[in-house]
Amino acid sequence: MNYFDPHIHMTSRTTDDYEAMAKAGIRAVIEPAFWVGQPRTQVGSYLDYFSSLVGWERFRAAQFGIHHFCAIGLNAKEANNEALAKEVLPLVPRFAMKEGVVAVGEIGFDEITKAEEMAFAWQMDFAAKNDLVVMVHSPHRDKKRGIIRSLDLAAECKVAMAKLIIDHNNEETVQSTLDRGAWAAFTIYPHTKMGSERMCELVKKYGPKRIIVDSSADWGISDPLAVPKTAQMMRERGIPEKHVELTCWQNALDAYAQSGQIDVAALQKPMSIDQSQTFNDNSVLRGQTPKTAAGVPN
Ligand SMILES: [Zn+2]
Repeated sequence: MNYFDPHIHMTSRTTDDYEAMAKAGIRAVIEPAFWVGQPRTQVGSYLDYFSSLVGWERFRAAQFGIHHFCAIGLNAKEANNEALAKEVLPLVPRFAMKEGVVAVGEIGFDEITKAEEMAFAWQMDFAAKNDLVVMVHSPHRDKKRGIIRSLDLAAECKVAMAKLIIDHNNEETVQSTLDRGAWAAFTIYPHTKMGSERMCELVKKYGPKRIIVDSSADWGISDPLAVPKTAQMMRERGIPEKHVELTCWQNALDAYAQSGQIDVAALQKPMSIDQSQTFNDNSVLRGQTPKTAAGVPN
């Protein structure tokens, strides 16, 4: 089976991860712009970061047979630097229309501050006016209040609920997200928050409709194979294969293909790899013989 990890920060991951992901059947990923563990101090840092998401990282993923899409946005945490946020927000429209960008994101709340709300609303307003998909990060603390406020704000900004993906849901928030008609994504972390076991119980209870599984793997302790591993556990727990396919592949595809940026037919077959290619004269190779074969079949 093919898998889609619609929330993963590959910039922070290694080539070993890409190889393992391709081998496990991950055919496509979405890398949303986020914070990089240390606050950025200049608008130029965002310019180069956004450029790498649509450029180098997209190329790097393809070298390992994985389709790479991204989301562009000013994350909640850094929205609290209001002076910098003012300079960064105008970059979002510049990048959100580029090839391979499937959403505005990840945007939302971290500490649920006024500054966060301002940047969040500004970006949702831009998305709504341009009919774009929105990927929302929900806060780790005070999650339920953060998600309800996010749903309300999205409605005020006139974002279509069918184009709204609320991420990092849990048992307490899933019903509110689904009731409003948004997509409910779940991040599977190895030790905290949602684990694969809890995800299986959720799919048993709520079914597969508008439910999406992702890894949100980044520079912290996280698992880039969380989607295929959770799918495997779902099968072992007797969840129908169709439900596994919907939550670990098709739903994310349906949600983000609304951007018009995903060639759905191309995703069905293995991507051909050509590691002899370069990006601005740079390759992923360190003297090895380039692999030039069809992507890993599964
Ligand atoms: Zn993230």
